[in-house]
Amino acid sequence: MSDAPGFILILERGLPPTQRNRIRRRLEALGATVQFVSGGVHPVLEVFGDTISISTLKPEIWPGVVKRVELTSPHPHAAWGLGRGEGATADSPMLPTVVTIPRPGGGGESASDDPGFIEIGPGALTVLAGPCAVEDPEATLSLAHELAGLGVEVFRAGAFKPRTSPYAFQGAGDAGLEVLKAVREEVGLAVVTEILEIGQLDKLSEAADILQVGARNMHNFTLLKELGQCRMPILLKRGFAATVSEFLLAAEYILAGGNESVILCERGLRLAAGSEGVVLDLGAIPELRRATHLPIVVDPSHGGGRAYRVPALARAAVAAGADGILIEVHADPASALSDGQQALDLTTFQVTLAELAAMRQALNGCSAPGAAV
Ligand code: PEP
Ligand code: MN
Repeated sequence: MSDAPGFILILERGLPPTQRNRIRRRLEALGATVQFVSGGVHPVLEVFGDTISISTLKPEIWPGVVKRVELTSPHPHAAWGLGRGEGATADSPMLPTVVTIPRPGGGGESASDDPGFIEIGPGALTVLAGPCAVEDPEATLSLAHELAGLGVEVFRAGAFKPRTSPYAFQGAGDAGLEVLKAVREEVGLAVVTEILEIGQLDKLSEAADILQVGARNMHNFTLLKELGQCRMPILLKRGFAATVSEFLLAAEYILAGGNESVILCERGLRLAAGSEGVVLDLGAIPELRRATHLPIVVDPSHGGGRAYRVPALARAAVAAGADGILIEVHADPASALSDGQQALDLTTFQVTLAELAAMRQALNGCSAPGAAV
C-alpha cells in the first residue's frame, strides 16, 4: 500500500454507520484499504491501493456518497512526480523525459552529450521534417539529402497513410519502407513513420527509429496497449477532437505497458469556427508541461492546414515552449500525392528554420521550458 490515499469519499452528514460500513466493505472487496476519518462536518473515507481501477466503478454515485476527491493522477506514468521524479530532492528537481535516438550510423555508446544520439525533449529544439508520404524513391531520397544539408536530423514520411477517402493515395507501402531504409543508411537521417496496425511493427522497426501514431489512432486503445509492449519510441499525435486529459490517458496506455519513450505531438483541433477549419492549440503546450514530463512536439502543418499559415504557427509553437517541430516539406508541393496544400517548399522551409533559430535565441533566458510550472 502506498502511504497516500488515491482518493477520498466525502459521505453524507449523519450517514448511519451501517451504510458507511457497506461502502467500506464494497471498496475492501475490490482490494482497497480504507480508513475512516471522523470529527469533521462530513464523515470521510480515505481510499488507498489500486484506486485507478476502482475509479471505473464510480463510487461517487453510490448511495450515501456526496463527492469523490481525487488525490492521485488518473495517468500516473505520464504525470510529474509519480511516474517521474520519485525521490527528487530540492537539490535535484524532477527531470523531464528526453527521448534519445541513436543516430543512424552514429555509433554512440551512451546518451549523455554523445553526438551519436539525437535528443527530443526540453533543451533541444528538434526539427522533424519530410513529405507527408514517401513518394517516388529518387525524389524522396533527394529531398532527404536537401533536408540533411539544412541541418535536419529526423526525416518524417509515411509509407502507410490513413486517408479520409479510400480512393486517395494510401501510401507507397512496403516499397516506401525500402526508401526509408535508404534514407537512414545512405543519408544518415533518423526516420519517423506511421504505424496503422500492430502487424506492421516488425517491418516498420527495420525502417524507422520512431513510430508515429496518428491523430485518428489516438483512440485505438488496442494498438496503444500493444505499443506499450515494444521498446520503439512512439510519437503520439493528439486526436483532433481529443481533450488534453484524453491525450494523456492515451499516452498512459503506452507508458503503463513499460514503453517509456513517448513523445506527445499537438497537431491542431478540427473546429468549423477556426480559420481554415483547424485550430492549433498552443495553450496545450504549457498545460501539458504542467501535467507531464513527456517531450512535446508541435505540428504546425496539420495544425495550419495551409502552407501560408505554417511558418507563423511554427514560430508561435517555439515561443510557447515546444521541444520539437514537425513540418511537412515537399520539393514541389503542387505535385504532392498527399497534403501538398500544407507542405512548405524548400526555400520557405529554409527561411522558416532560420526564423526558428532566431526565435530560440531571442527567447534565451526565458523561464526554462522543462520546468514543471
Ligand atoms: C500525418 O502526420 O501525415 C497525418 C496524417 O497526421 P494526423 O494523424 O495528425 O492527421
Ligand atoms: Mn500529412
